[in-house]
Amino acid sequence: MALLPILSFPDPRLRTIAKPVSEVTDEIRQLAADMFETMYEAPGIGLAATQVDQHIQLIVMDLSEDKTQPMVFINPKVTPLTAETQPYEEGCLSVPQIYDKVDRPSRVKINAMGLDGQAFEMEADGLLAVCIQHEMDHLDGKLFVDYLSPLKRQRAREKVEKIVRQRHKEQVPVKR
Ligand code: ZN
Repeated sequence: MALLPILSFPDPRLRTIAKPVSEVTDEIRQLAADMFETMYEAPGIGLAATQVDQHIQLIVMDLSEDKTQPMVFINPKVTPLTAETQPYEEGCLSVPQIYDKVDRPSRVKINAMGLDGQAFEMEADGLLAVCIQHEMDHLDGKLFVDYLSPLKRQRAREKVEKIVRQRHKEQVPVKR
C-alpha cells in the first residue's frame, strides 16, 4: 500500500477525461487499495483516479464514519432519476478547505463494475447521490468549483495555492 499525491486545483491534469477500464487487473486492484489508503489518510469520503493522476474510470468511496463501507465504482454511468435538484455543501480533496453549495439531482441510478469485474446497478439519494455525481465530474475533468461564480472560483484558487505552498514548505526539510 502507498499514499498517492493528490493533484490540487488548478492543476491542468485535473481536466483530463478518464478512459474506461477494459479489465480489472492486479494493477487496478492495487491502485484502488492505494486510493483507499490515500482517501482515508486525507481524510475524505471519495476519491477519483483523476485526482491521483491516473486517468481511468475508477472511483473509491466510503461514506461511513468508521471506514467500514468501502465502495468501488469502475466505468460508472450515472443517470438522474428526477429533475428535482438539492443543494449540498461540497468539499474536495483537490480543493482543500473550500466548501460551497452545489445543486445536483437528488436521486440517481448508478451502473458500474466492482473490483470483482461484476456489473452492478443501484439507486442512490442523499450523500451517496451527491458524492457519486461529484466523483463522476472528476472523471470528466470537472471540479465542483466550476459551478461557482468566477469570483468565488478565483478566491478558491488563491486560497488553495496558498495552502499548497504552505504544505510544500512544511514537507521540505530545512538544510543548515
Ligand atoms: Zn473532489
